[in-house]
Amino acid sequence: MQPAPTTEQLLEIHGRIRGCVACRLHETRTQAVPGYGPVEARIMAVGEAPGEKEDREGRPFVGAAGTLLTELVESIGLTRRDIYITNTVRCRPPGNRDPEPDEVSACSHFLDEQIALLRPDVILILGRHALQRLLPDSAGISRLHGQRVFRDDRVYVPLYHPAAALYNGSLRETLFTDMQRVRGYLDEAEAARSLRGAPAEPETDPAADQLSLFAQ
Ligand code: URA
Repeated sequence: MQPAPTTEQLLEIHGRIRGCVACRLHETRTQAVPGYGPVEARIMAVGEAPGEKEDREGRPFVGAAGTLLTELVESIGLTRRDIYITNTVRCRPPGNRDPEPDEVSACSHFLDEQIALLRPDVILILGRHALQRLLPDSAGISRLHGQRVFRDDRVYVPLYHPAAALYNGSLRETLFTDMQRVRGYLDEAEAARSLRGAPAEPETDPAADQLSLFAQ
């Protein structure tokens, strides 16, 4: 069994993201937004890019879309303390424009490192930009939303982006229905882990716990 990931390892990645100058987005950011949540999270969410509020506060999904994301997480009996949230690019594109392909690609290795470190049971793909980044040759979100996609030993669930559902009642309803399926996927992963005799949660390093429950 691989050793449990530590908060220090996650904070080390966050530190490199904060100092990153690999693409033009660093020139206009207030600060980079590496990600937020505990290294023990069994569920991870990947959005598009920080917006104005995220750029100011340095945390992902703190605006209106974030409030809906919190409701979605709570609808399946979890809290924001149970999920690690990050984005496809970590610096706000000026005026909230779409990230350019070279910006996504410059940021790409950080997401790979975060996923490899946390090894979450389920990775929620929020919206088409994250889908394009994580499952580039897949069908679109309208076909795949709520379905489990197994790829390279990982489990992905594409979902509509919460921002798209803010003013669209039927998308909002679809998101909540899809989240119920996510609950089932998490339960299955948990059951499989106990069958294998592995600990229900990765063992944590007590020193890392004292350092910070929430890597940010
Ligand atoms: N906030 C984020 O951090 N990411 C998004 O994709 C949208 C809002």
